[in-house]
Amino acid sequence: NPNQRRIVELIRDVPDWPKAGVVFKDITPLLADPAGFAAAIEELVALAPGPIDIVVGMEARGFIFAAPVALKLGAGFVPVRKPGKLPGQVDEQSFALEYGHETLAIHSDALWQGARVMVIDDVLATGGTIGATAELIKRQGAELVHVAVLMELGFLGGRERLAKAGVDTLSAVV
Ligand code: 5GP
Repeated sequence: NPNQRRIVELIRDVPDWPKAGVVFKDITPLLADPAGFAAAIEELVALAPGPIDIVVGMEARGFIFAAPVALKLGAGFVPVRKPGKLPGQVDEQSFALEYGHETLAIHSDALWQGARVMVIDDVLATGGTIGATAELIKRQGAELVHVAVLMELGFLGGRERLAKAGVDTLSAVV
């Protein structure tokens, strides 16, 4: 569709960043383009399967997309952050990176039993970030009804990793 074409054209490949051999998908040209940014939000909103109570977005690029999607869906927004950033009591979940590990945190009282939650991020790569976020959501008794990303790097196998982690609804705009 025309939205998808516009979005793809506005995501810039940056070779060898943040390290040699990696082609980073840079979303900043998309954000700077009013029609492109609007198209991205519109397409993400269209992926919501029914009513959503809370949209969860992950630091930092996930925030940029998740907050406007939440507003359009009439849902609340809940941030998932790096450790030491949230002021209240938190639940934390760690996951393995290629070298070392990463930890994500959510306020312990952010969600509730049966809350219908949608997760939004910019890019799905290995699936570690979304997997850990899904775990944090489930631990609070909420229902992860959908995960939507702007772009999926299919060759990294994130979708398979998430399926193994019990994430059964996932879609990507491009
Ligand atoms: P994963 O945990 O799936 O390996 O990596 C996804 C996370 O890393 C996302 O939160 C995303 O923001 C970031 N990320 C990884 N690769 C890229 C990329 O090529 N472009 C952008 N914009 N973000 C990336």
